[in-house]
Amino acid sequence: MSAHLIDISFDGHMHTPWCHHATGTMEEYVLSAIAKGLSHIVFLEHMEATGVNYFETTWLTDQDFDDYFAEGQKLREKYGDRLSIGLGVEVGYSVTQHQELQDRLSRRSWDQIGISYHFMPVPDQAFDLNLVSRQERNVRAIAETGCEKVLDNYFKTLIEAVRVLPGTILCHLDAALRFQTGLQLTQGHWQQIEELLDTVKASNMALEINTSGFAIRGTPFPAPAIIQMAIIRGIPLVAGSDAHRPEDVGRYFHRLPELLDSLSTFI
Ligand SMILES: [Zn+2]
Ligand SMILES: [Zn+2]
Repeated sequence: MSAHLIDISFDGHMHTPWCHHATGTMEEYVLSAIAKGLSHIVFLEHMEATGVNYFETTWLTDQDFDDYFAEGQKLREKYGDRLSIGLGVEVGYSVTQHQELQDRLSRRSWDQIGISYHFMPVPDQAFDLNLVSRQERNVRAIAETGCEKVLDNYFKTLIEAVRVLPGTILCHLDAALRFQTGLQLTQGHWQQIEELLDTVKASNMALEINTSGFAIRGTPFPAPAIIQMAIIRGIPLVAGSDAHRPEDVGRYFHRLPELLDSLSTFI
């Protein structure tokens, strides 16, 4: 059954140097995908609203996106007979500036629009919380704000993002706060996840199985129990390595068929 649940020759999530926290050229990601025998990739680069208050820039400007599209087009011409290359966006939601994001999204033709929520503004902190960062100052600021409260707000905001933005796939669903120790989802969080998946389904979106989780915690994002909830709802699954280095393209994909098999056996 797993062969029908996911296509492991397709990596739907990788970055480029334009986001300032990935290494290697776009061409090196393409060559890595070809060397690993993939048939289809999608670059999914970071877009954030202009009002993000953060001490470094980890996303692309509109000018960067022009360059990204130009380079992507060149690579399609050079390697298109060996690899299907998509150009997409991983858009970080903003509660206050979603209209700006919608306007910017509408101005280009994306092969995939991934929805994430990376930066959460909170009172009493000097910068917006970066929910997926391993940096000590982020981990500390999240702990000070309160993990349960931050997670509540994270899921609530993702539900809104899926409703508001023209997304095609929801990225790394439970990756927020992945570097907080001893994190536990509450009953309330599980109810929010149910609502989030129902919203993804109603929006005809796919769910990303983000294999960066294997490197961080031994299972993908989202956790197997959440993947099973998505399978039950008939939500399409797409593998994404979230590669920020060319060698990480397609990482751990070989583990997915067995994992998905075990999750679908009981359904
Ligand atoms: Zn990134
Ligand atoms: Zn992300």
